[in-house]
Amino acid sequence: MAEKNEEERELTGLYAAVHSAIWLIGLAVLFYTSNWFPGILILVAISGVAQALLQMLAKQEEAKAQAAQQARQAALAVPATCPTCGAAINASTVVWSGVATAHCPYCKAAIALKTNA
Ligand SMILES: [Zn+2]
Repeated sequence: MAEKNEEERELTGLYAAVHSAIWLIGLAVLFYTSNWFPGILILVAISGVAQALLQMLAKQEEAKAQAAQQARQAALAVPATCPTCGAAINASTVVWSGVATAHCPYCKAAIALKTNA
């Protein structure tokens, strides 16, 4: 949970930086071209589009981080060998039948997953 909060703060910081840059550059362009109207409306539109894009990116990053976290937890939970036939197994070779249930690819026995600390 702490990791997730940290990521959200980073993305918020990124948005704030991009937002500031858009406004500073936009206002500079409007100042030099003296094209305040409708220039200011275009700047507001660009700012809104940038916000929507960054929010979309933030959601994608969050989903990616969650998937990575789940993959890590799954890798930790699978024992090194099958308790039934003793074959070497890991999170990518076992047959997943659910989020918390896996079966040995060799003997098809259910594997008792280690609890995540
Ligand atoms: Zn087995």
